[in-house]
Amino acid sequence: MAKSKSVPDNEKIAIVTGAARGIGLEIARELLDMGMTVLGVDISVENLAAAKAELASDKFDIATLDVTDSAGFEKVVSDMVDKHGRLDVLVNNAGITRDNICVLLTDDDWDLVMKVNLKSAFIGTREAGKVMMRQRCGSIINMSSYSGLEGNRGQANYAASKAGMIGLSKSAAKELAKRNVRVNCVCPGFIKTEMTDAIPQEAKDMALTMIPMKRMGQPGDIAKAVGFLASDASGYITAQTLSVDGGMHT
Ligand code: NAP
Repeated sequence: MAKSKSVPDNEKIAIVTGAARGIGLEIARELLDMGMTVLGVDISVENLAAAKAELASDKFDIATLDVTDSAGFEKVVSDMVDKHGRLDVLVNNAGITRDNICVLLTDDDWDLVMKVNLKSAFIGTREAGKVMMRQRCGSIINMSSYSGLEGNRGQANYAASKAGMIGLSKSAAKELAKRNVRVNCVCPGFIKTEMTDAIPQEAKDMALTMIPMKRMGQPGDIAKAVGFLASDASGYITAQTLSVDGGMHT
């Protein structure tokens, strides 16, 4: 691939994982609103089809992918580059929880959360990083969490995976910076999606007391931050961890 410079935001080519619902769906919507061409990938075929119908844009395509599938992830990236000639933005957003207190957490629940949340972000960063290095430009955004910064009762596996994403992102950012490839993390606080709908009301009430702005965030609040980090407006920002949490983490 020949060396090339950054293209304007409205010509950028992006991949968003976990794009079928929740925060990922809003990120796809935001990048499309910015004029980007977006591939939404997710493990859920039906939800992806619903997302495609909802976003109704000829700049939005979908692909089924389990982000833990290394060869599959590599193929999604190479297919995108074959089709569009470049990849400017990767948002590693797909994530899961398997909550339990540490002393009751099973090996399987530890391993699965590490694989889906952390290893997938490594695979995506590696595959997109190779393309972006050759292009001499690109932005990778990894979806960490307030839990990764502060820890959270019942989420030792999840918090460790999200803290790991910060270490991964800072390391990759330092490796890729001289090739004009940026890697940043976004740390959502308590955002209204199906992930948090599953939390018992008592725990939700407790979480609200910790939020200085006294409200849950919306997926669109996270999407705006991701849009900024994907855009040239953040062109000198790399290796950073941006909290979007109503003031919880300071
Ligand atoms: P969500 O509503 O559960 O959506 C996550 C999406 O990722 C779902 O479509 C899910 O598919 C998909 N997914 C799960 N495993 C996958 C895999 N192996 N391969 C591909 N796709 C997979 O979650 P969300 O609340 O939007 O969260 C998005 C990201 O933000 C996650 O990384 C989460 O940890 C992070 N985050 C969320 C909050 C919050 O308050 N919501 C706070 C901090 C951080 P299925 O429908 O099949 O499960």
